Amino acid sequence: MRFDGKRILVTGGISGIGAATTRRFLEDGARVAVLDIDQARVDEFVSGESAGDQLIGVAANVSDSGSASAAVEQVVQRFGGLDVLINNAGVGGVGKAGDVSDEDWRKVMGVDLDGVFLMARAALPHLMESQGNIVNTASISGLYGDFAMVAYDTAKGAVVNFTRATAVDYGHDGVRVNAVAPGPVRTPILEEALANEEISATYAERIPLGRTSEPEEIASAITFLASDDASFITGVTLPVDGGLTSWSAQPN
Ligand code: NAD
Repeated sequence: MRFDGKRILVTGGISGIGAATTRRFLEDGARVAVLDIDQARVDEFVSGESAGDQLIGVAANVSDSGSASAAVEQVVQRFGGLDVLINNAGVGGVGKAGDVSDEDWRKVMGVDLDGVFLMARAALPHLMESQGNIVNTASISGLYGDFAMVAYDTAKGAVVNFTRATAVDYGHDGVRVNAVAPGPVRTPILEEALANEEISATYAERIPLGRTSEPEEIASAITFLASDDASFITGVTLPVDGGLTSWSAQPN
């Protein structure tokens, strides 16, 4: 029960990595608010978990300033404060710099980068009060380039440095800020690709641990960084990638 009584907000908390993280926090005694964009999906998730007062749902758009700050205030009112913000909501995006449309670029930046900033800005006064912390879900795509994913790679790279800068700015206020950088995870985003045997085999070959990860393995890293076990860790982006970013990719 390492999060007994802690008040936690998980964006994108009803699916994939966010849902696994929410469940882990609930098991460890936290009160959790899941935030996602669609009210009906949020309600369905909350009623499906049967967690009683321990779990509430908020529908909001993290890429909209007013919606993000209203959601934080709603959670703070319900819980009486906030101890941890998990900035996990995200969208993918394909395309190279020469062919991404204005609209696609703005969509990815809006959710994956602006969303992290807007939620952090709204939550920081409350986190200073509680001496709390933030964990951002970046990606190994924020550490290295991928083929034809320039908007996503750019947004996630910025999240890695947002994490450092915000850790520096708020360390003296007692707020820690960290990130995880997952490699490929078996969530709805990746399900279709993994159904393709060739792609699945390529992942197995290129990842030193020989497989993609399950959402629960990312949740373990997120909850570690959010816990007191990580009390002297801030500004860090922890790769959770089965060794993928440790390989130089040179042929034998
Ligand atoms: P997912 O699609 O299962 O979950 C993402 C959630 O974010 C969805 O429920 C979606 O509705 C929500 N969301 C999207 N836009 C939103 C908005 N504007 N406001 C509020 N909520 C919004 O995906 P996932 O794989 O669990 O991804 C979670 C995070 O992990 C993302 O930031 C993603 O970029 C990152 N990530 C995923 C992988 C992977 O392989 N799955 C790898 C590295 C990083």
